[in-house]
Amino acid sequence: MTSSQYELRAEHRVAPAAAGGAQRGPVHLWHICPAGRPVALCGEPLEPDAEVRPMSEWATRLPGDESITVTRRCAACADAYAAARWGSGAE
Ligand SMILES: [Zn+2]
Repeated sequence: MTSSQYELRAEHRVAPAAAGGAQRGPVHLWHICPAGRPVALCGEPLEPDAEVRPMSEWATRLPGDESITVTRRCAACADAYAAARWGSGAE
């Protein structure tokens, strides 16, 4: 139930200007955000229209380049999420 308050949001690499500039690069890192808010728990501001995935996929692997693997998860978000889940309330 608590997990539904959060969602995964992608931090994209900025595509080089040579590629058009407005184009989005591949996913650099997955952050955990409060649902509907483009600011990660670690404080990283994310694009409002960044790719969003359900929180349940944090612990699973997805096929292809956008896999939410260990190396693509934001460690700071993981810590903040764990703290929030266990209700420490500490800021
Ligand atoms: Zn983060």
